[in-house]
Amino acid sequence: MRVYNFNGGPAAISQSVLERVANETLDWNGTGMSIMENSHRAKEVVDMANKVNQDIKELLGLSEEWKVLFCQGGASLQFAMVALNFAPNGAPCDYINTGLWSTKAFLEAKLCGAGARLAASSEADAFTYIPSEFDFSKDSNYVYLTSNNTVRGTQWSAFPKNAPAPLIADFSSDFLSRTVDFSPFALVFAGAQKNLGPAGLTIVLVRENFLQKGAKNIPHMLDYHTYLEHESMYNTPPVHAIYVSGLVLDWLKNSIGGLKAIEKINRAKAADLYAAIDDSFGFYRGTARKDSRSLMNVTFRLPSEELEKNFLSLAKKEGMVGLNGHRSVGGIRASLYNAVPVEAVMALISFMKEFQKKNG
Ligand SMILES: *Cc1c(COP(=O)(O)O)cnc(C)c1O
Repeated sequence: MRVYNFNGGPAAISQSVLERVANETLDWNGTGMSIMENSHRAKEVVDMANKVNQDIKELLGLSEEWKVLFCQGGASLQFAMVALNFAPNGAPCDYINTGLWSTKAFLEAKLCGAGARLAASSEADAFTYIPSEFDFSKDSNYVYLTSNNTVRGTQWSAFPKNAPAPLIADFSSDFLSRTVDFSPFALVFAGAQKNLGPAGLTIVLVRENFLQKGAKNIPHMLDYHTYLEHESMYNTPPVHAIYVSGLVLDWLKNSIGGLKAIEKINRAKAADLYAAIDDSFGFYRGTARKDSRSLMNVTFRLPSEELEKNFLSLAKKEGMVGLNGHRSVGGIRASLYNAVPVEAVMALISFMKEFQKKNG
């Protein structure tokens, strides 16, 4: 039996995509073998990867100046690559700290020798909100932020307008979940395993003119130029992850109807769940400030940790898994990524009402 999967990541993938993967496993695209066994230099595989590249640009409405790169090493390697490429030798760069992943990115930039400083932070308030005032440096090479804070359940709804440098952002947990105006951004990245496909692939979107200004003479696999010059095939790319992501893009485009359609669904799912929390007379307490709430990761607490434990184990018995908060904060987190269907959210809400009746 398939469960309702609320995992924070790796996360739910649409059943229709998984069925297609299963069907194509022994003979992909008439090659008589699985895609895993094909050469990454084979024409069929190169065509497949190019299609994924095109579909991402099309879905996001990116102009020609944007390049799509396929990297590995997760979103975590991007923390180092961004700093090494765009703030070498102590060059100044600004970070906005809104949670675990931006903290990691900031510390990694410093480790890589970047002149990283904090332009804003919500750490003093347990990362419960997205800052709206910034202390930018004038000479900064870029301003870094995390679009959706997977752990704390906060999300940027409008990005900083007065930044003195292009924005670089980690979109790992809300990539392709809503329409975004990318005009203030120079580089955007996302690990695939939250909202796109299997782990092992990281999508990087970068403006070509920004990339050309990047540092030279860094190790090949850490240098974005390498990925651009070799069409992300300098070494063996994660072919299977690219392929499954391609099927997810196809599903998003043709079954769902694109970004506007998925955004509407995502907004409705989140609104229903937050309403259930807010209408519970304090039994369920959202942890993020209301103006900063995430559409992707809904974080909340119950009156005691004992009740949270019971909640999680009962939910699991009812076929709802992955509802535990990130191990660094505890509590409950329902991740409502693109592939989590409305029915899953409806089932969770009725479970929450029942649970409160018995324990409230
Ligand atoms: C999951 C996540 C990461 C870490 O991704 P890895 O692929 O495991 O390195 C980084 N940033 C955000 C916002 C995430 O949600």
